[in-house]
Amino acid sequence: MSNRQTEGLEQTSQRGPDGSLRHLITLEGLSREELTDLLDLSQFYVRQPGELPARDQSLAGHTVANLFFEPSTRTRVSFELAARRLGADVVNLDMHSSSRVKGETVLDTIYTLQAMHADVLVMRDAEPGLPTFVAGHVQPHVSILNAGEAHLSHPTQGLLDALTIRQHKGEFGNLSVLLVGDLAHSRVARSAWHALSALGTGEVRIAGPEHLLPAANEFPGAVRFTDLNKAMKGADVIMGLRIQTERMSAAHIPDNAAYCREFGITAERLKLAKPDAIVMHPGPMNRGVEITGDVADGPQSVIQAQVTNGVAVRMAVLATIVRNAQAQRKYS
Ligand code: ASP
Repeated sequence: MSNRQTEGLEQTSQRGPDGSLRHLITLEGLSREELTDLLDLSQFYVRQPGELPARDQSLAGHTVANLFFEPSTRTRVSFELAARRLGADVVNLDMHSSSRVKGETVLDTIYTLQAMHADVLVMRDAEPGLPTFVAGHVQPHVSILNAGEAHLSHPTQGLLDALTIRQHKGEFGNLSVLLVGDLAHSRVARSAWHALSALGTGEVRIAGPEHLLPAANEFPGAVRFTDLNKAMKGADVIMGLRIQTERMSAAHIPDNAAYCREFGITAERLKLAKPDAIVMHPGPMNRGVEITGDVADGPQSVIQAQVTNGVAVRMAVLATIVRNAQAQRKYS
């Protein structure tokens, strides 16, 4: 990577000495060019259900360990499939029966995996900071991939969302993208925001009840709405978000039926958006709360395409990170 390309990029620990990505912890600070490269490689790996999945040996000889300290279905399975389809060995740690519950520190677990030649560690945790902390302690050939960090960051989700939008809508500059729901606690929304901003999205709107919208200094430039009907008007992309009940006190959890009436993505409301608008949701969905079943399963829904794209994006990220780590080893 040239100096020109790294100028102005963030100085986090996710880059190696040559400026290339050694870990993927956040999309914040990735350039448009870097994101586009990742999306292009992801597209190369996309296969539709019914076709044989893409496979190559980019990760042959490598070992990927999945450490999920929070529940996951799509992300964990797609990281596993992605790694296997690139020829890696994969281990999935059951964190409920891992040594962390016996009092072992996370770092001791990491050192144990490192001693067994695990060289890509995929982690999800409810607390902020774990991926960055671990990245600061692993050996130079080990990479950390953030698979969901508290309310802060879910970079591969941000990439798969951007890929899905690009596939269905083309250029970001012409688009009005609406994120609706519990933005305050959503890592999906934050990573989508970082990707959409860097890719030059025409307009980003955020909508939800006032107490579930982010702080005023977050999502700078996004247009805020507390009336979903107004927010929907003319939108090209509508992304529903689950209420993150696990990240809020009981007093703040809205009543499901009342929430759906005001903030649910319903067939009636969808008519306010552009006629060819697409509807997205990262899953897991609460049908009848943030989205109704007829919309989730309807012709404008691209929710299953998001899932398909998730595997391709994780293949692209794994292949890129491992390639960068190998290049660094050669020159160090
Ligand atoms: N699966 C996504 C995440 O891990 C969205 C959600 O849980 O609501 O953040």
